[in-house]
Amino acid sequence: MTSRNRRVSGPSRKKINRNKNSSLNKDIKNRSLKRIQPKGKNKKIYSNSPVNNLLKKVSIVFGIIMVIYVIFIFEFPANYPDKFKISNMTLDSNKITMQVETDSYKDKLIPLDILLNIGKGEITLIGEKETTIVFANNKKIILKEGSRKIKINDKTKKFNAPVVKYKELVLVPGELAKTLLPEITNFSNGKLSFNLSSDKPEGEYLSFDDYDGYLRLINKENPMTKNYEPTDLINVNTLDSITAYGTNTNLRDEAANALSKMYKENSVQYAMTSGFRNYETQTQLFNEEVADNIQAGKTEEQAKIDAGTIVAIPGTSEHQVGLAVDFAIPGVVLTEEFKNTPAGKWLESNSYKYGFVLRYTKEQTAITNIIFEPWHFRYIGYPHSEILFKEKIVFDTYIEALREEKVKYFQAEDGNDYIIWLLSGTLKPEKLEFNTSNGIGVSSDNGDGIVLTMKVKN
Ligand SMILES: [Zn+2]
Repeated sequence: MTSRNRRVSGPSRKKINRNKNSSLNKDIKNRSLKRIQPKGKNKKIYSNSPVNNLLKKVSIVFGIIMVIYVIFIFEFPANYPDKFKISNMTLDSNKITMQVETDSYKDKLIPLDILLNIGKGEITLIGEKETTIVFANNKKIILKEGSRKIKINDKTKKFNAPVVKYKELVLVPGELAKTLLPEITNFSNGKLSFNLSSDKPEGEYLSFDDYDGYLRLINKENPMTKNYEPTDLINVNTLDSITAYGTNTNLRDEAANALSKMYKENSVQYAMTSGFRNYETQTQLFNEEVADNIQAGKTEEQAKIDAGTIVAIPGTSEHQVGLAVDFAIPGVVLTEEFKNTPAGKWLESNSYKYGFVLRYTKEQTAITNIIFEPWHFRYIGYPHSEILFKEKIVFDTYIEALREEKVKYFQAEDGNDYIIWLLSGTLKPEKLEFNTSNGIGVSSDNGDGIVLTMKVKN
């Protein structure tokens, strides 16, 4: 009974439903067709009118332009960092790594100065908004302050951070270093590293905050403490080839070895008459000069002033740091005549090859405040000695010049390229780690900073 009823009633209900559905569907279909599809001529005009076609194309092109604009051209205004620092610098024998930290663009920015000097870049044009820089590998870039886009050889590349300023520094995206100098640099997670030559630069520079840096300047404005004495003095008579007389024949290790090399490689005749002198010895020399002046009729005050130009005032003598050498030949000892002797002439124009410089020249007495001393040479290490000699820079102003330049690229005649960085103030690394004593020279800058001397990987 139930099954029969179901059999009868089932199909008939279905039928009704189907019919209902089909008529409803048809109706909806018809209505919507009427609404959507224009009839006859209208339909044709709508789809094929040249005006509409143009409108369509214009809107597509506009859409594409908008997408490009959003992706590439539109830039949010740059965030200028409130903080930037080199939090850690690691010196390996052939690699230098610095960890940079910025508050905006999280650690993605590096100082342009560093990049300029790694890649030996030269700023060729500073426009009102754009700056053009050409690097040694012929890559040309155009930077714009506030923009993430940098033109590299006329192709624009967008970086993950913009060019911004922080204090006196221009900061650029770290990725730029990798793009420009892929052979020698790397940048990831705020770590900028670059490869150096694995050869050790001449001169084993020491810790950056002690008195022992080879670039330490000693003069009236920068005296040594009374008790200072270098810890690595050696008697030059224990080394080969050196001719030395007198009682002050000690020099710091590196200077003594450089002197030995100079003697070995050349046959010019001269003798070292004075090297390291301690504070007491210097005081004795100074007092003797003052006594001579008083005897010659000068007042005590004048006697002291005049003595100071001939014998360094105690504490201001380079001999106290074990890096100065006085030379002589028989019959010509501590007189201006030494300049015209074969030894004097040779030393003046060749000692720089071994890290020495003629310290008190005739032309520079106004800066040094010391009389012309053609016999007095100072060890400052190579290639600094060559820079001073060739560029006629007096040592008293050298560090200040470096400080202004921040970094210096120098092609030395020993066939190597060097980078010299003076890192102080904003660029001074918070922490400095040495993984080895080779490869990189470090000296104090006579202030709070450090001078790094590095051979560049060729
Ligand atoms: Zn001297």
